[in-house]
Amino acid sequence: MNPLPRHDHYIAGGWTAPADGGYFTSVNPATAEPWYEAARGTAADVDRAVGAARTAFEDPRWRDLSQTRRGRLLRNLGDLIGEHAERLARTETLDNGKLLREMRAQLAGLPEYFYYYAGLADKIQGEVIPGASRELLNYTLREPVGVVGAITPWNSPLLLTATKLAPALAAGNTVVVKPSEHTSASLLALAPLFEEAGFPPGVVNVVTGYGAEAGAPLTEHEAVAKVTFTGSSGTGRRIARTCADRLIGCTLELGGKSPNIIFPDADLGSAAMGVIAGIFAAAGQTCVAGSRVLVHREAYDEVLERVTARAATIRVGDPLEETTELGPLALAEQLAKVESYVELGQAEGGKVVCGGRRPETGLDGYFYSPTVFTGTDNGMRICQEEIFGPVATVMPFGSEEEALAIANDSAYGLAAGVWTRDVNRVHRMAARLEAGTVWANTYRSMSPMSPRAGFKTSGMGTEHGTEVIREYTRLKSVWINTSEEPAGDPFILRS
Ligand code: NAD
Repeated sequence: MNPLPRHDHYIAGGWTAPADGGYFTSVNPATAEPWYEAARGTAADVDRAVGAARTAFEDPRWRDLSQTRRGRLLRNLGDLIGEHAERLARTETLDNGKLLREMRAQLAGLPEYFYYYAGLADKIQGEVIPGASRELLNYTLREPVGVVGAITPWNSPLLLTATKLAPALAAGNTVVVKPSEHTSASLLALAPLFEEAGFPPGVVNVVTGYGAEAGAPLTEHEAVAKVTFTGSSGTGRRIARTCADRLIGCTLELGGKSPNIIFPDADLGSAAMGVIAGIFAAAGQTCVAGSRVLVHREAYDEVLERVTARAATIRVGDPLEETTELGPLALAEQLAKVESYVELGQAEGGKVVCGGRRPETGLDGYFYSPTVFTGTDNGMRICQEEIFGPVATVMPFGSEEEALAIANDSAYGLAAGVWTRDVNRVHRMAARLEAGTVWANTYRSMSPMSPRAGFKTSGMGTEHGTEVIREYTRLKSVWINTSEEPAGDPFILRS
């Protein structure tokens, strides 16, 4: 048997073998077969990568580059991603089981992240502050923070890396990325494009490996000035504690248990498709999954009928096939987790009206059928805990107030969907839903231009849009005395 392809860390513009020589195997979730090995990073590798990033941060080729030229490099990277889109899309499909169709669409949009922040790079600026006295000139400098440690999960490796990388680089930082141990391949395939785009070596580095062995040392490294993390709320909490101890900033994009709320005046056909998109796209492995479907009693039977009829015909199988609608879960542990939640839901009194089993696909991967529960109460664990799989609970409500109460009765607050033709109701709901993103008559719409934040245990800080630049910069206040007059009383404050 041929040995598996083996990938090293990407540090200072070149491939670097792991310090202790260790590698781990990554599995294709559609076939359950190993398909490559990646370097098993340790604190020593993280130290090399952070060292390279620190050196690059002070390298005049990066530090003194004009902001417009910095933007130019981001634009180059966007162009290169466009040229390599098919290869990158296929790599990610093999790595995490996302549909190739979806990956092609994602890759078609990915350059936009770099173009958007390319345009923003030379609009990052301080301001002149009006002073109390004419002699004192006070202005601010918005400076990069230094080395950023970026840690990503397995469900959308390239998209979530772009979300962090593009603004961090636009602001003049250097970055060390630690992708998920389950999905390192697409970022490793992207890595050589950083230097091809013109970024000096060390501006972007990739260290692969496990969370405890490579992720934790990255958050603990004394030269890392900022951590940006997307992943589960449990890991997010641990990282927040480390950053609190070190008194450095962290941005956290965490889990969700999002409500998708349907009123009887909605276009029920579109709403039912919105439910399908919300929970079954990407096999439910999206942070914004609309896993709690709330339907007004008057529309309940019709929506349930439409959702289960479509769910039962979803084509589950090989994610590389053009006609497949639902691929595998990304890892064996995730399949086991989904199965245990379906058992738990039934034990709690819920009824599976669709799916609830492993389907026949002819493949050995981690497939699970689209699953719909009825008879659940929002207090049950399957309605409160993130499953991160193709499992929806459909619950009735009787009034707007009741819908809001159920929707907001969650530790999470990432996203919410509202389906109605009543525009006033849309605004009322948008104002009162405790969620960082509210969609009305659509679901899973996304753009680099639109800020994205998690409320409650769904996160801290903002990504996307212009707002994110604050997360990757620090503000310095500069005071200059322009007066030629002798200094005044040294014992009083000057203003
Ligand atoms: P996870 O928290 O298990 O792992 C995420 C990353 O953190 C991985 O790279 C992992 O190696 C690393 N990690 C683990 N322990 C660590 C530690 N102690 N220190 C530093 N790094 C550590 O999450 P996952 O299972 O890979 O991803 C699924 C989760 O991500 C879900 O909860 C999902 O909702 C969330 N997610 C959120 C968003 C968002 O934008 N809010 C987007 C996608 C996914």
